[in-house]
Parts: sequence; structure tokens; C-alpha cells
Amino acid sequence: MSRIAFLGLGQMGTPMAMRLLEAGHDVRVWNRDRDRTVALSQRGASVAVSPSDAAADVEVAITMLATPVAVHEVLFGPSGLAETLGRGQILIEMSTIGPKAFRSVAARLPDGVGAVDAPVRGSVPAATSGRLDIFVGATNDDFERVRPILESLGDVRHIGAPGSGASMKLVVNATLGAAIVAFGEALALATSLRLDRTAVLDVLADSPIGPSVRAKRANVEARRYPPSFKLRHATKDMRLVIEAAEAAGLDLKEARAACAWLDEAVRHGAADLDYSAVVATILSTAEPTASRA
Ligand code: NAP
Repeated sequence: MSRIAFLGLGQMGTPMAMRLLEAGHDVRVWNRDRDRTVALSQRGASVAVSPSDAAADVEVAITMLATPVAVHEVLFGPSGLAETLGRGQILIEMSTIGPKAFRSVAARLPDGVGAVDAPVRGSVPAATSGRLDIFVGATNDDFERVRPILESLGDVRHIGAPGSGASMKLVVNATLGAAIVAFGEALALATSLRLDRTAVLDVLADSPIGPSVRAKRANVEARRYPPSFKLRHATKDMRLVIEAAEAAGLDLKEARAACAWLDEAVRHGAADLDYSAVVATILSTAEPTASRA
């Protein structure tokens, strides 16, 4: 079993740290809002007073934070992780921050610190039950060292060199953003054409966007969007997709359209709701054609 620092106890980080504890690892947690450490401390985790304190004497430090800025602050800000990390230790960066931010983090780490990117697919239920899909960018040696730890969290796939896990995650999330917006637009069209909502949802459940429809149908029908994957994170991810594409000379028109809808949902106050709340924003623009006549 390993000594692990875990930083970032949000919706995903909390159940992931719990899984590591349940697997028998020695886990030391840190979170900016200290209240979030209580449940883990009651289950046997030790609580660090700062990121640099968290990393002392561990083999591996895991970050699961909101944004690239948050990752930079926790690593390189005052009392940051990088103050303590040293030769032989490994940083496993599991947030969704894209390959550019990950590589800039890796380049600033002290000499001899391994840098592994391991972002995840799957939301809170998958994190809780240890069924995440984990996309790992790492050297072969580092991969073999972190594999047993990551296997407590889900299905582990070695994508390639450092940075390639972060790249794969953007590829995956490009499809997630496109699918939820396609769901909203299909429902808006159906509403304008005066189709029965239940019949439309039944048909869409077996369409190419079926997984998104089946996962988020209950939210749409109840008009309630409790956050599982916050809309602010989906917006951040689509921006990362667009930036990565532009850096490679690509203009992804569908990604830009999805990002525009997500931005509009943010303006409607949905940033901290589930990302499926974008469906409500799109639907709010629709009305049956007859009523417009
Ligand atoms: P979350 O619930 O919003 O939690 C965000 C975490 O980041 C919290 O621990 C928060 O600390 C911390 N944080 C934010 N800004 C910070 C800063 N400047 N300095 C220090 N800590 C900071 O997010 P989440 O849903 O767990 O997602 C975490 C990451 O995983 C994101 O990159 C997200 O895109 C990705 N992801 C999420 C899902 C999902 O379904 N939720 C699925 C796959 C990937 P406080 O508690 O102090 O605010």
C-alpha cells in the first residue's frame, strides 16, 4: 500500500479519496475549504494544513482540482506542493486541464519529480464505485508505479507519453459537449414542431445521442439540474478543446457552437447547475410554430 497526498475534495475528489482509503492506502488530504476534509478525516485520512505539508513523506501526490489556474496555485502558489515535492516522488494530475497546462506544470516541477496526467471519464457515481475510465499519460516506468494506485479508482488505460492522457480527455469531452447541445437543439426543434415530449425522448434515447439522453432525461423532465458535472466545468472543457484545436491549426465549428450555448447557459445563471441545464437554456428559445403565427 502507498502513502498518498490527495488535493482537491470537490464532487469528484471526495469519493476518489474515499476509494483510496478503502483500498488500504495511507491518505493525507488537503482542500482549500477545510470543512470538506472532515468526512475523510473521520474515515481515517490525515489532514494537511497546506499543499506543501500534504506532500511531505508521500510517494505520490494526486491533484483533482477545478481549473488550470487552480492547479497552478496549488502547485506553485504560497506553501504550494512544489515546495516539498522532490526526487522520486510522483505527481498524478487528474483534473481536466488539457495538455498545454499539464506540460507547463510538468516543466516547472523540481528535478526528479515524475509527472503523470490521468484525467477521468465518468461522474460522481463512477468515482464512488471505482468505475472511472482513467486516461494516463506517463513514461512506462512511472505508469507501472502509479497503476496499482489508479486501479483502485477505475479502469486504467496507458495512452502514451506525458500529456497524452490530458489530450485524450479533451477528445472525449468534445463529444460530451456536442451531444448535450444536440440533445437541447433536438428537443427545441421538437417543441417548435409541437411533438409530444415523452414520445420525442423515447425516440432520442435510441438515437446517436442516446447515452446523453438516457443519462439526463430525468433532469430535463423534472426541470431540475442538481450538479453532478457542473456546467462551469463543461464550459471550461469546451474552451480547452477549442484552444487545443486552434493551436493545432483546426477550426472546430461544432465545438465553438457548443461553447456558445454553454456560455449562454452561464449567463442564465446555470454555472453551478449540472451541465445538462444547457438543455433548459436551449429549450427556452423554442416555442410551437403555431403560437408565433
Ligand atoms: P468541484 O466539485 O467544483 O471541485 C473543485 C475543487 O477544486 C474543490 O476542491 C475546490 O476547492 C478546488 N479549487 C477550485 N479552485 C481552487 C483554487 N484556486 N485553489 C485551490 N483549490 C481550488 O469539481 P469536480 O466536479 O470535483 O471536478 C474536478 C475536476 O475534474 C475538474 O477539472 C472537472 O472538469 C473534472 N471532472 C469532473 C467530472 C464530474 O462529473 N464532476 C467528471 C470528470 C472530470 P474548494 O472546495 O475550496 O472550493
